[in-house]
Order: sequence, then structure tokens, then C-alpha cells
Amino acid sequence: MSLKNSKIIVIKIGSSLLVDENKKIKRKWLSSFAKDIKDLRDKNKKVIIVSSGAIALGCIKMNFIKKNLKLDKSQAIASIGQIELMNLFSDTFSKYKLNISQILLTLEDTEERRRSLNAKRTFENLFGLDFIPIVNENDTIATSEIKYGDNDRLASRVAQITNADILILLSDVSGLYSKNPKLFKDAKLIKRVENFNKDLKDINFKGMNEFGSGGMNTKIEAAKICQLSGCDMIISNGLYLNPIKRIIQKNEYTIFKSKVSKLDARKKWIISSVSPKGELIIDDGAKKALKDSKSLLAAGIKKVNGNFKKGDHIRILDKSNKECARGLCSFSSDEIKKILGCHSRKIEKILGYITKSEVVHKDDMVEV
Ligand code: GLU
Repeated sequence: MSLKNSKIIVIKIGSSLLVDENKKIKRKWLSSFAKDIKDLRDKNKKVIIVSSGAIALGCIKMNFIKKNLKLDKSQAIASIGQIELMNLFSDTFSKYKLNISQILLTLEDTEERRRSLNAKRTFENLFGLDFIPIVNENDTIATSEIKYGDNDRLASRVAQITNADILILLSDVSGLYSKNPKLFKDAKLIKRVENFNKDLKDINFKGMNEFGSGGMNTKIEAAKICQLSGCDMIISNGLYLNPIKRIIQKNEYTIFKSKVSKLDARKKWIISSVSPKGELIIDDGAKKALKDSKSLLAAGIKKVNGNFKKGDHIRILDKSNKECARGLCSFSSDEIKKILGCHSRKIEKILGYITKSEVVHKDDMVEV
């Protein structure tokens, strides 16, 4: 899907686009970005912005240095900076008669199905009211174990739950290169990725994690989530003025093309979880059954990793630890430890109560 044909567009901007090395806010850049958004709105496109910058702007206001902050302090700084961030957007966007609203998400808001549907409805209502949602992680609440930690994956999950056509990650590099472009002059920009295994296999990722806050890793993770949800993703250099117009005019970015996804919305949500709680290692017989679209039974499970509850997201791996599916587990990890390898008819006797016989039902599972 090209930008021209996209109806719902998610754009992620990193802190380095809003604040320069001398800790000055880049108002001119933001104004040029607002102009681009105005052009998209005039073409009736629905736009969601995912913006970092709460901690960076909080640090400017308080005269703190980001890397010296401990978690609890950075949560407080994010609370101070988030309001600065929104004021900055509000001042700039109102000059183009664009209305903005704020959505702060925590990990559970996208990882729990009911909450993700709720969030989806809020986005839709905001579109209906002609407001542009500006999303950030709720950094004041998020602690390390329940945190996205990077807005790349957060943005991809927002794109997935809102059924967006395209996600644009505006970064401080022009896209994905064959090797680190800051070190190698002959590094080539990879313009199109369709098959992750094939197209990424010769890339030398060394040193590429310094790009943006999450580095190239989280961008590739985000691209995988998008690809499975039927959403294209672009990584482009946002340091230029009018960064969206530039994407339309210049073919200098990486686009990750999505698969035409036949999955329904619930299965898209299952496959794109950013925080599976555990893993089930299965034998070859169970792997074959999964390929034939059958449910996963206790008899085929060899091992369980992690602590999870009934209904949690889990990954299903084969004997050589290769991921073969993802799903929602009908048993807790403690229960599975007791029943793994057993025939389904023995489950009730072992656990002492009646349960489902499938550990992961085929309707709750998606092959990877
Ligand atoms: N949510 C963080 C902030 O607003 C930034 C996370 C990121 O840059 O990926 O400061």
C-alpha cells in the first residue's frame, strides 16, 4: 500500500526529531511536520501520531540529564515533560487548524484483548470528531517489566489494533542499510523488504542499534508485527523539514511490505503480541498436528518455560527452539507442568477438576 492509497496512517516520531543536540526544541521542524499532516488531512486521511519526547522535554524543563535518571525519577520527569510535549503539539498544530488529543498507553492496553478493543474504539471516535490522536507510552506508570520501552513497537501495535494501512517510523537514518552507514561508505539502502528471512539474511547489523532510541532491532520487530497484520511499514529519515512530503517525493526510504493477511482481527492481535508470557516446547508429532490446523494437546508438549496464567499469550517452539506458532493458552504454566506428555483423558484425574482438553485451541492459535 503506498502512502497515497493509505486511509489510516500511523506516524512515529522520535525525541531526536523534536530536540536537537543542544537541547533546543526544533519548532521549525515541528511546524513543517504539522504542515505535512495538514496536507494528509486535506486528502481525508486518518492520522495517528506516536510521539516520544516526554522524558527529553521534562529533562529540558528541569535541567536534568536523561542518562543519569533512575527509573522512579524518570517516571516523574515524564509526567512533567508529557504536558510540555502536548503543549508544544497543541501550539504548533493549532496554527494549521488541526485538533489534537492525547492517548497514553500501557502495555496491557494493547496486550489484553478487551482493552485493545476499547482503545480501538477511542481512536475511531476521535477520527469521527476530527481530532488527531497523539500517542505515547504512559511512562509515569510503566515499570521495566510491564513496559514497551520503545515507541517503535508501541507504534506497530497501535497500527495493528487500528487496522492502519501504513506505519511510518521517522528516524535519524534513511532506512535499513546493508551495514552501518556511519562506518561504511559502501553501505546500501535496502529499499524494499518482502521476505524477512531472505532479504535480511546478509545484513550486518553491527553498530546499528545506535539509531533511534530502540535501535534497528526494535524497528525490525515493529516491521514483523506490521507485516503479519497486513500493514506496510516505512523507515525514513525524519531529520529533514517536511519529512512526509519528502517520502512522497523522494524514493529514499525502506519499505517493509506486508503479507496479504487472511487472518481475522483476533488472530492478527494474537500473532502480534509484544509480550508473550511463556513458551511451550513441543515434539514433532504435535508440530505436524499444528501444521494440519489442529489444536495443541498436552501429550505433544515436552517443556514449559515462564510463568503464565490461563488465557495468557504464549509462544510455541519446536525441539530446536524455532517458533512455530503463537496462541492463548487455556492452562496456566503450573498446570501444564503437571500434565505435559499426558493423554488428554488423564488431565481431569491429574488436576482434580474438569477443564478443556486442548492446551491451546486451534481457534486461539496462529502459525508463524
Ligand atoms: N516514551 C518515551 C518518551 O516519551 C520515549 C520512548 C522512545 O523514544 O522510544 O520519552
